[in-house]
Amino acid sequence: MNNKIKQAYKLLENCRLCPRNCGVNRVKGETGFCEAGLMPMVSSFHAHFGEEPPISGRNGSGTIFFTHCNLRCVFCQNYPISQREEGREVSARELAGMMLTLQKKECHNINFVTPTHYMPQILEAVFLAREQGLDLPLVYNCGGYESMDALRAMDGIIDIYMPDIKYSDSAAAKKYSLAGDYFEASRAAVKEMHRQVGELRVEKGIARRGLLVRHLVLPGGLDGSEAIFDFIAREISPDTYVNIMAQYYPCHRAFEFPELSRRITRREYMDALKIAEEKGLSKGFRQVLGTIDRKNIPEWTDNLKP
Ligand code: SF4
Repeated sequence: MNNKIKQAYKLLENCRLCPRNCGVNRVKGETGFCEAGLMPMVSSFHAHFGEEPPISGRNGSGTIFFTHCNLRCVFCQNYPISQREEGREVSARELAGMMLTLQKKECHNINFVTPTHYMPQILEAVFLAREQGLDLPLVYNCGGYESMDALRAMDGIIDIYMPDIKYSDSAAAKKYSLAGDYFEASRAAVKEMHRQVGELRVEKGIARRGLLVRHLVLPGGLDGSEAIFDFIAREISPDTYVNIMAQYYPCHRAFEFPELSRRITRREYMDALKIAEEKGLSKGFRQVLGTIDRKNIPEWTDNLKP
């Protein structure tokens, strides 16, 4: 095991893989807020065609879905995986094997979905897979609640960062994800990601390297889109690719919160697009108008204009 991986594993002994800083010793089997143990748990892995066009491409994105999550949002659409332990434990060698299988299927990248709480184990598996010929870009597809120590450990290894920025409002972040410091932490994280990989570079329709930020519009403006787009345009770059997502629907515990118990309206989505445009963001993806009311089928157009 090389030094970088050893140092990453050190973060697990007094777990500070994310801003929750639980301080539990995961190497000895203790668990913190995310409930993840030492062995990584994987729910599924396959070629995924529903990501943004330059991520899915023609052959699909090689997604590996990890069990557990460090945010545990009350409205999580993947809650059986993130909060109900759906998945099985795998060794680093098995995880490496999954990456190589996805490469054999000609996927365009390896896409780690909700990887934050397993970063050291993923690095180890990447190291093993690289030894056996893995040469695809690596996508870090996370909730945006990341620690600086963990991000620095991945410098030079991750090619594409694809974080959410979920909320700008601390009260909302605290109420729905028990993370009052979410915006502060995610701003620092996204700046570091951008420092490492820069703006998204797409060649022949396929993303090779860079940053792609995702933002899910919540009902009633609970997400605070304006401050998020303002931050991206002014403190990252107006050339940042942003995916403004309209597919919110109430699920998991959302019905415990009346304000979260409905889909967003077309007006709310249009307003979010308009704000992004006013802030100077023009690169990225929005859902094709007319599909918002339909079931959860992502369709994309690569133009942010409302
Ligand atoms: S990764 Fe899990 S155990 Fe570690 S600090 Fe974050 S929530 Fe806590």
